[in-house]
Amino acid sequence: MRAGGRLTYHACVAVIDTLGRPLRSLRLSVTDRCNLRCHYCMPEDEYLWLPREDLLTFEEILELANLFAEAGVDRIRLTGGEPLLRRNLPDLVAGLAARPWLRDLALTTNGVLLADAATALRDAGLHRVTVSLDTLRRDRFQRLTRIDALPQVLAGIDAARRAGFEGLKLDSVITRGDNDDELVELLDYARAVDAEVRFIEYMDVGGATKWRPEAVVSRTEILARLTDRFGAIMPLPGRDSAPAERFQLPDGLTFGIIASTTQPFCGACDRARLTADGVFLLCLYAQHGTDLRRPLRAPAPADTLRRLIAAVWEGRADRGAEERLPVRERGNYIPLRMLKKDAHLEMHTRGG
Ligand code: SF4
Repeated sequence: MRAGGRLTYHACVAVIDTLGRPLRSLRLSVTDRCNLRCHYCMPEDEYLWLPREDLLTFEEILELANLFAEAGVDRIRLTGGEPLLRRNLPDLVAGLAARPWLRDLALTTNGVLLADAATALRDAGLHRVTVSLDTLRRDRFQRLTRIDALPQVLAGIDAARRAGFEGLKLDSVITRGDNDDELVELLDYARAVDAEVRFIEYMDVGGATKWRPEAVVSRTEILARLTDRFGAIMPLPGRDSAPAERFQLPDGLTFGIIASTTQPFCGACDRARLTADGVFLLCLYAQHGTDLRRPLRAPAPADTLRRLIAAVWEGRADRGAEERLPVRERGNYIPLRMLKKDAHLEMHTRGG
């Protein structure tokens, strides 16, 4: 209920979509800005940015998070763009961590600013951190991201460990001819820093304007290469709705593969997305979303927003990656001319 402009939480069972999938997880983008220009996400020279006055305040984000919780959300991942570019992020983390309904609060970051932020984030109540790390070679990092920042990223990973984050994950998007010769090095590095690598297939989502099928290194190929190197690899049970399948090497090291392109997992997808300006998206491939900022600022009664969120999820039939699977002549999903007109179509706006 909204009292004096504030919302209080009442527990609720998860809303179910048309394919029987509950709403459980919210990926909350706090900014569309990024300090890297990764080749698979932001390869262009110019971008359209969200107007600053449209960005939700922390108070607005917390109000919406409460409403999503009433529709079933109990897990939140903070994303961007690069979320650590959002000023005072630990304040938002503290506000979310204090919610009684929250079971898991995670952050995905490129790690460049993590060294200075890790302790404050941990103290604020952040549970888990995932750092994007596609290469361990400095010259390659600079070529693939257009910024010479690998030392800062590695320092950020070290700081996250020292701050006491457990279950540290490293996300590596593997693309042919760029970093597919580093699978073993990335696993060795993960072992050394007590983290778990997740190898991610290159996806043809909005913003991936250089995507081509030949550049995808599939789950099957990754497993074959690692089997050649290490011997039999064991799949681990207990995936549930997680995007990553987990595996174990003969020596006990575990790793994950997110096979979004060749073996999508939409049937178990319980993830909603909220952009930094309050657009509610149902899929990474969605071409349209529902603007929650306008009714929030109107201000509409909390009940109107509550019903809107539930109705949108109940009408959800999105299974973007599965629908892309049979497409022949597959190339860019969203043409560049469309990306130039609507920032919401970009992966860096909706959180990867
Ligand atoms: S493509 Fe869409 S429905 Fe499928 S897993 Fe990704 S976000 Fe979920």
